[in-house]
Amino acid sequence: MTSAASFDAAARRADFPLLAQTVHGQPLVYLDNAATTQKPLAVIEAVEDYYKRINSNVHRGAHLLADRATTAFEEARALVAGYINSPTPEQLIFTRGTTESINLVAQCYARPRLQPGDEILVSGLAHHSNIVPWQMAAEATGARVVPIPVTATAELDMDAFGQLLGPRTRLVALEHVSNAMGSIHPVADIISRAHAAGAVVLIDGAQSVAHLEVDVQALDVDFLAFSGHKMYGPTGIGGLFGRRELLESMPPWQGGGEMIETVSFERTTYAGLPYRFEAGTPHIAGAVGLGAAVRYLRGIDRKAMAAHEDALLAHALELAGAMPGFRLVGRAAHKVAVLSFLLDGGHPHDVGTLLDRQGVAVRTGHHCAQPAMARFGIPGTVRASFALYNTHEDVERFFTALRKVQTFL
Ligand code: PMP
Repeated sequence: MTSAASFDAAARRADFPLLAQTVHGQPLVYLDNAATTQKPLAVIEAVEDYYKRINSNVHRGAHLLADRATTAFEEARALVAGYINSPTPEQLIFTRGTTESINLVAQCYARPRLQPGDEILVSGLAHHSNIVPWQMAAEATGARVVPIPVTATAELDMDAFGQLLGPRTRLVALEHVSNAMGSIHPVADIISRAHAAGAVVLIDGAQSVAHLEVDVQALDVDFLAFSGHKMYGPTGIGGLFGRRELLESMPPWQGGGEMIETVSFERTTYAGLPYRFEAGTPHIAGAVGLGAAVRYLRGIDRKAMAAHEDALLAHALELAGAMPGFRLVGRAAHKVAVLSFLLDGGHPHDVGTLLDRQGVAVRTGHHCAQPAMARFGIPGTVRASFALYNTHEDVERFFTALRKVQTFL
């Protein structure tokens, strides 16, 4: 039987060297995981080993190191592709992260196809990186970006979605998990309904890939965007998965080396997948580090990990429920371990600063989701977001610190 109890979070915590430090003289409680996760030693060492032993440019070299670097880079692609169950490694494009992946699809898939009057449905809770690229494509083509309304519990209004979905809908682009509120959206249902209406779906997996099993084939999704740094890998590297026929039908993204087959002043031809979308020297060390993060995650019982994270959320919600003046924002029935909240009488930034002085790292503000904040009539929240290495002691310390914050308000 899988349970939270079978997951040893303290042992996992020991895998992450950064967490051993003190801040402001206090042991660190790191609860800013939705912004970026910490990195296990295995990832740090993989990057170090790459630079100490392997570093070379990929794909074109005639020497041993070039071979090693190419092998390491392509092994990393296969690992990351396998992690999301991509049918082939070449359907996994390495990008800088979720933002670049979404921009790639907006510019290379959407923009050439959109016509005046076409609609792109986006989530009312969306991160700005899943709004603005569509607005840019819409502005250039006369299409419209239409938000899917959000309920009082921070869930997508599925009746409204059904009504908005129609013959004008070309694309549905939404997050699997809301970074601002933690809500898990019913993406499988949304994808099948969107497909039935003839629309293509991009899922922003930035907040889901580290916490939930994301299987692109089971979901039957057209595009999946994600960031390495939110799944225990390095910054500056991420992925775009795409359905093969869609990727192959798209013009290249940036022009340069790596992405061509032949170049002449008369006629240039482009490489096939995935290189067509990977102009220039890639972030080789980043890819290697992301591959190591996938290996690390593979060594973990994912069901027990998810049960542990759910138990942390339940623990935090119980303590929040007993705290006067604690206003939880976002009460979705299905959510990851994210607590977005306000304290009566306390500006989120002040709460964040007072928590920091006690060693507790949280994020405050609009979380790059201003329309979501507007929906709830607030400028921002305090957000505590948990990861696999957080412990029940972290939850206790967080609430002890919050009680102290309240004495200053
Ligand atoms: N989408 C969501 C839901 C996010 O949480 C984030 C990062 N906060 C992004 C997109 C953007 O990711 P990145 O900055 O890594 O490109």
